[in-house]
Amino acid sequence: MTGQYDLVVAGGGLVGSAFAALLADRCPDLSIAVVESRPFSGHYQDSEFDPRVVALTETSRQLLVQIGVWPAIAERRVAPYTHMSVWDADGTGFIEFDSSDVGALCLGHIVENSNIVGALQQRLQQLANIDWICPAKVAQVEQQNNQISIELDNSEQLSSTLLVAADGALSSVRDLCGFQLDDTPYGHSAIVATVRCQHPHSNTARQWFASDGPLAFLPLPEKHSISFVWSQREQKADELMALSDEEFCTQLTRASSACLGTVESVSKRFCFPLHQRHTSDYVQPGIALLGDAAHTIHPLAGQGVNLGFKDVIALVDELQRASQRGLPLGDMSVLGRYQRQRKPDNLATMLAMKGFKELFASDNLEVRLLRNEGMSLVNRMGLVKKQLVRQAMGL
Ligand SMILES: Cc1cc2nc3c(=O)[nH]c(=O)nc-3n(C[C@H](O)[C@H](O)[C@H](O)COP(=O)(O)OP(=O)(O)OC[C@H]3O[C@@H](n4cnc5c(N)ncnc54)[C@H](O)[C@@H]3O)c2cc1C
Repeated sequence: MTGQYDLVVAGGGLVGSAFAALLADRCPDLSIAVVESRPFSGHYQDSEFDPRVVALTETSRQLLVQIGVWPAIAERRVAPYTHMSVWDADGTGFIEFDSSDVGALCLGHIVENSNIVGALQQRLQQLANIDWICPAKVAQVEQQNNQISIELDNSEQLSSTLLVAADGALSSVRDLCGFQLDDTPYGHSAIVATVRCQHPHSNTARQWFASDGPLAFLPLPEKHSISFVWSQREQKADELMALSDEEFCTQLTRASSACLGTVESVSKRFCFPLHQRHTSDYVQPGIALLGDAAHTIHPLAGQGVNLGFKDVIALVDELQRASQRGLPLGDMSVLGRYQRQRKPDNLATMLAMKGFKELFASDNLEVRLLRNEGMSLVNRMGLVKKQLVRQAMGL
């Protein structure tokens, strides 16, 4: 049996679900299938914090408002942060931002991944023009005569004029369709978990840049709880993962200069090897890559999903326009416009992250002096700082 759709989305994670929900809402006449390999995660576990969180920019939050899921997300739990402090951990450089610098209520929100995905997947189930196919995996893709044939791992066959791959950093659709990928390991792994600190976090996001990698403390809704992302050279990360909880807390207290007092306890730790990945093209006739399937970047500025959400907005705009004009959705004249809008922005952010990582990894004395001076100088420059804050907020 073959299910015929206007469009199939591979991957119902953060980006794929947001894309499908926004498009289904804007174009109720389109029939859409979303294929997700992991079982439905709409049932949110609120007993413990999810170790995976994202720092959402205002642009990303607005997207979730448009889709209609922000109230449900906010009702569960989110942590708005009003202040951000950034240190050069090997020097004296310091810069701080406050939401009042730009007259905003907060700089962004820290939200658990499972909260966002759960709310989005629940929304997908309510939309009449979406078929939610889960758990199932896209296993084969064939392109012929402006039609895409998709075989799932449960042998079900789907067919559509456009396949949107939002199946994450290790996208199998990207590989099945032969997209050329530049995959460069950063040589870093990121350790993530939730910790409880002696002092309250005061709704402040904190980040330390050290030569062996950045450390971020992201405030959670409970005032002593922090989600951290600690990027370290791979061998050092393995050593930190092997420590007992008590020893790990001591190391983390030291790395954070005990700025929230002692780190008192840590949840189960997870470690992710970090890669910079970017495909030469985001589109082929009948296929479009979205989010991490097209680009993955170092989490040091917490921009991964925020870039993915900007891809969502751009592709939905193009498809809505095409649909109104009666153009085939998989046509390169439609998809090419999406690629032209998104590739420069993603590439620029990727290069900036690489530059940041290298700037702070440098042992060169002059570079270190310059970077310390630079940070402190920017901290005193009201207008430049204002512009930086607006950019970080995705405005
Ligand atoms: C340590 C760390 C910290 C981060 N912190 C931040 C942050 O603060 N802010 C930020 O913006 N970003 C952050 N990111 C990046 C962010 O997590 C990713 O950019 C985001 O998860 C990408 O979403 P996605 O939907 O593209 O991919 P994913 O979240 O990976 O979703 C892909 C989905 O596709 C499904 N799937 C896979 N293969 C198939 C298949 N063949 N068929 C069907 N379904 C399939 C998977 O089950 C999954 O649900 C961080 C990343 C890391 C590693």
